Amino acid sequence: MALPVVAIIGRPNVGKSTLVNRLCRSREAIVHDTPGVTRDRTYQEGYWADRTFRVVDTGGLVFDDDSEFLPEIREQANLALAEAAVALVVVDGQQGCTAADQSIAEWLRGQGVPTMLAVNKCESPDAGLAMAAEFWGLGLGEPFPISAIHGAGTGDLLDKVVSYLPPTEEDEGEEPIQLAIIGRPNVGKSSLLNAVCGENRAIVSPIRGTTRDTIDTTIEREGKTWKLLDTAGIRRRRSVSYGPEYFGISRSFKAIERSDVCVLVIDALDGVTEQDQRLAGRIEEDGRACVVVVNKWDAIEKDSHTMPAMEKELRAKLYFLDWAPMLFTSALSGQRVQAIFPLALLAVEQHRRRVTTSVVNEVLTEALSWRTPPTSRGGRQGRLYYGTQVAVRPPSFTLFVNEPRLFGETYRRYVERQIREGLGFEGTPIKLFWRGKQ
Ligand code: GDP
Ligand code: GDP
Repeated sequence: MALPVVAIIGRPNVGKSTLVNRLCRSREAIVHDTPGVTRDRTYQEGYWADRTFRVVDTGGLVFDDDSEFLPEIREQANLALAEAAVALVVVDGQQGCTAADQSIAEWLRGQGVPTMLAVNKCESPDAGLAMAAEFWGLGLGEPFPISAIHGAGTGDLLDKVVSYLPPTEEDEGEEPIQLAIIGRPNVGKSSLLNAVCGENRAIVSPIRGTTRDTIDTTIEREGKTWKLLDTAGIRRRRSVSYGPEYFGISRSFKAIERSDVCVLVIDALDGVTEQDQRLAGRIEEDGRACVVVVNKWDAIEKDSHTMPAMEKELRAKLYFLDWAPMLFTSALSGQRVQAIFPLALLAVEQHRRRVTTSVVNEVLTEALSWRTPPTSRGGRQGRLYYGTQVAVRPPSFTLFVNEPRLFGETYRRYVERQIREGLGFEGTPIKLFWRGKQ
């Protein structure tokens, strides 16, 4: 599928190129244009909230003395617009609304393309709103005050821009959720698999993977299609005997890599071993959603305090999965095994969840108000300007700061905790990128 196009429209010098560079830089470094060189329609890839699109800069709409379009420019702009999912009009807030802006608006209103209006050069948020208000009269919808140079307002603008893009194939057709049952030998993976699927009966269709002897099993649960990864690797263990030291860790790593969500099975009798920690670490590193299943619960002697006490003990050793829900099961009796899918589904939903820029910044503002960023020994104060979610699976956030090195591990962890406290994300890791001014 061709990438959807966002057309940038506006007079010369309103800041179109500056904005395009900002929109397109999250994924790759910007190639700076030589200053003063006028550009033709250029195409660059933009990337926001897990969407990729092409940004077409119309290069500046030039008008003659009567604010009429020059014919060749009009043709070029028409071309750019014909393929656009949304037209983003840029005006200069410091200059105010001009006759040329009016002409552009008038021309666009007849084009039938959804439009958005960015009022650039609004460096101060309060003054920006006032400056932007003047542009309501253009009839192009809500004016968004932004500063292409500093980045202010561009997050909210982009949230809105991507909402105009057509759904991706991924959004349209529901892909099966890839679930990997992960764990050391003998923790009860095959038994759990049988307990949830019923010895093959619930299997809809086994799909032969590309790798030799990898078999994925597809089943329906919770109204979704699930692909259980590498079930051959799980089942085969029963008929072949390996030495006690044997552990197919690379096979497990491959399954983690292919998965959306991992069910990490721990043996309640053994507790968390070093091998369990390696698997858990890999799940977190790879950014996969996860549910921790503590199996063989029937074999534990217990009273009403056992479960919370044991959960505390296990979590201390699985601290990098502190966001993952924990479930105590018995594959033998079937106790709670049916709860695995609802929990896995919650984790998957969080893994794919998007949060708007304004909500992210509410949480950040709150976090900053409780604890100001650190100051360097030289007296430089860390500043966090704003943050935005740049990807899902797992949810990833870029935080724009003056200097990343001013933000130590302690403060970074604090911000991550605040994001979790404010936004949840149970069942999924989240990633934070700290980015300085460039
Ligand atoms: P284009 O001709 O529309 O592509 O405009 P440019 O991106 O080349 O910018 C024109 C001028 O406006 C340059 O001098 C930029 O530095 C300046 N400019 C761009 N964005 C901003 C902004 O957010 N604030 C201010 N104050 N100046 C800006
Ligand atoms: P896998 O190697 O992880 O696939 O583990 P298996 O499913 O083959 O189970 C290993 C051993 O643990 C077998 O003897 C199972 O009967 C036993 N087992 C599995 N689940 C449970 C459980 O919930 N309770 C008890 N008591 N034993 C279990």
